[in-house]
Amino acid sequence: MSGRAIPFNRAFIAGNELSYVAQAVASGTLGADGSFTRRCCAWMEQRFGARRVLLTPSCSSALEIAAVLCDLTPGDEVLVPSFTFVTTASAFLATGCRLRFVDIRPDTLNMDETLLPALIGPRTRVIVPVHYAGVGCAMDEIMALADRHSLLVVEDAAQAVGARYRGRSLGTIGHLGCFSFHETKNLICGEGGALVINDARFEARADVVRHSGTNRSEFLRGGVDRYTWVDVGSSHLPSEMVAAFLYGQLEEAERITARRWTIYRRYHAGLAPLVARGCLQTAPAPDDAQHNAHMFYVLAEDGSTRDALIAWLKARGIQAVFHYVPLHSSPMGRRMGYVPEDLPVTESVSARLLRLPCYFELEPSDQSRVIDAIVDFFSRR
Ligand SMILES: *Cc1c(COP(=O)(O)O)cnc(C)c1O
Repeated sequence: MSGRAIPFNRAFIAGNELSYVAQAVASGTLGADGSFTRRCCAWMEQRFGARRVLLTPSCSSALEIAAVLCDLTPGDEVLVPSFTFVTTASAFLATGCRLRFVDIRPDTLNMDETLLPALIGPRTRVIVPVHYAGVGCAMDEIMALADRHSLLVVEDAAQAVGARYRGRSLGTIGHLGCFSFHETKNLICGEGGALVINDARFEARADVVRHSGTNRSEFLRGGVDRYTWVDVGSSHLPSEMVAAFLYGQLEEAERITARRWTIYRRYHAGLAPLVARGCLQTAPAPDDAQHNAHMFYVLAEDGSTRDALIAWLKARGIQAVFHYVPLHSSPMGRRMGYVPEDLPVTESVSARLLRLPCYFELEPSDQSRVIDAIVDFFSRR
């Protein structure tokens, strides 16, 4: 092994995170919805042009609140990609609905919007587009379909914080949007998320569901004289310590994103000769979309080449990772009646995709080692 180990991801401090956490502790109240939570929400509302943002303990928990707000009954259908993190789907399944998996486009790896019309039936209620790698799904087409069939759209914008689609912030286009601040995302607080409410009719109920199904939030605003149990819900509340850390990151969002863009462009340029030779396909060109440089991935020509490349990099101390095991061909997906062949693009991409190290503190010399190792691998084949 040459040189030190290069991890796939590394948590980082960009600015005032730790002093804000100390301030939160010194304030004497560490529960939810204190001043750092309010500052985070106001920052996102202003920066992203969002109607209302609620902080949650994770994107998964924001998706769970969104699923409740969709008011599904057993037998209702929800359209989700299979090429995504588990909770995009599992958050909805908890309502008793039926999931219909949608294959992805081979270019963006996002939900293939041209497949949606054939999947929409009388019981379809919700479409859940996932903005993979922070690149926007075809939201104009998806929103038009939703409009025509009176469907709700919940954006899984876990990876798309700060990214745009035709000038609008991702997460603010559907009826509801969900963000993640998990330590592997662009802006982090360990575990964290947010629910973006873009349709006024969901505001009051979202507050209740997030507060364990109680009207505590209204009580604190002085709207009722006691608080009590009024609806379903759970405790979807992050503590002020987490919000304080997150606020430190939000303040540095521009610098963090700029750093990721530098890394992204460098991978793109460094691997371009391999793309030209037909060895690899890479994440979209930097000028392709208004994305946030969340992820740099490569697609090998087949699964065995991808697996050999992972092993090659690992032997050189470089951790590159793959995902997702498709949901439709997972044990849960098979129980729903799916077989792998049902979503061929998802199966193929899942076998061939590799994510390269991309984090704020990735040193240029380490990035060079990653690029050189990949070039080396293909020069020997
Ligand atoms: C990270 C991620 C999630 C889950 O986010 P958490 O904050 O860890 O719950 C959901 N969907 C997608 C597409 C993700 O990338």
